Amino acid sequence: MTSIILVLNVGSSSIKFAAYPAGGNETPMLRGKIAGIGTDPRFTLSGAGMDAATFGPISADAGQEDLTVRLLRWLDADTALGPVVGVGHRVVHGGTEFSAPVRIDARVLETLAALEPLAPLHQPFNLAAIRAVAARHPDLPQIACFDTAFHQSQGELARLFALPRRFAARGVLRYGFHGLSYEFIAGELPRHLGDRADGRVVVAHLGNGASMCAMHGRKSVATSMGFTALDGLVMGRRCGTLDAGVVLYMQREMGMSADEIEDVLYRQSGLLGVSGISPDMRVLEDSDDPKAREAIDLFCYRAAMTLAGLVAALGGLDAIVFTAGIGENSARIRRLICERLDWLGVSLDPDANTANATRIGKAGSRCDVLVLPTDEECVIARSTKRLLGAGRLASGH
Ligand code: ADP
Repeated sequence: MTSIILVLNVGSSSIKFAAYPAGGNETPMLRGKIAGIGTDPRFTLSGAGMDAATFGPISADAGQEDLTVRLLRWLDADTALGPVVGVGHRVVHGGTEFSAPVRIDARVLETLAALEPLAPLHQPFNLAAIRAVAARHPDLPQIACFDTAFHQSQGELARLFALPRRFAARGVLRYGFHGLSYEFIAGELPRHLGDRADGRVVVAHLGNGASMCAMHGRKSVATSMGFTALDGLVMGRRCGTLDAGVVLYMQREMGMSADEIEDVLYRQSGLLGVSGISPDMRVLEDSDDPKAREAIDLFCYRAAMTLAGLVAALGGLDAIVFTAGIGENSARIRRLICERLDWLGVSLDPDANTANATRIGKAGSRCDVLVLPTDEECVIARSTKRLLGAGRLASGH
């Protein structure tokens, strides 16, 4: 038996988790997910040799707090993995205060709770799980790792909206998200690009949520998501960049409430809204419906426009990296985006692209194009171990 670090990503309808050995090894012993919380809960595991049925049935009214506590109990009692000695959480918003992972205490929790209005669909669930663990296991160290932190290196221009200053003063700024994924990719770049890793790179994280990050020196210079995770690219259900006048029109002329508008922008738009079929790229790729085709084309058109804008922020382009569900798996989407970027020196090797190879750029082209799997849980596990190790040294154990 070894002691383990539990990584938790608690969302509005799911809990994703992974268990890592607390020692040096970076391979998870177990990965799993509780999906459909509140409606049709399902527990699945991808760890070798573990039986998901040992978790037992989950009732539809079980919430994130109950399930998080139950997950800890199950890990301790029903798996032979060993005691949980630390929990690392994905926390969507660290505001302007947190530019690095932090050990959670009452003061940190209070600061994070004050940020809930900035990420109302994510932050409350992240914090509910933290509170539930703290209530049952007050001595178990918990670490918060932030989706915003990687973007703290951005300059003032990348962060400012052209609004009166008083809005920036109360935190209305472009924060950016998906930072844990970008941190992982930034760490992988030297292995694949050598010295060019520190050049001008755009990383395209294309999943259900989607964004892009312009990196120079493997640090974030600009990103497509802004104040919330709604801005930028077309996503599964989110609209991405939208003329703010549309929101006023919905409110004034269509008589929609803030909650109704939120539901349209976050849950009914994007690939789902345009296709009228599905938020899932695989389903759209398999469909012959012209609206599915148009949703795909809009996704790629807007991705190429966003990427070109980020190239302006970087002053040039040395490499593009595709990652996350769509970026790692869809040769067609990568091709449709890259075809629009030919003028930037982007050219794909069609066979390598179809094979989902790591290097998919044509040999000798000006811009490298890579496909790299991301691993947000790994970044959380690393940070959690580092902070726990530092704590042990500091307290002289
Ligand atoms: P999340 O943001 O929920 O972590 P993922 O990174 O898992 O999302 O990405 C989910 C998206 O990836 C879905 O739109 C899914 O259809 C898409 N996807 C996964 N595999 C493929 C594939 N082979 N071809 C096209 N799209 C894919």
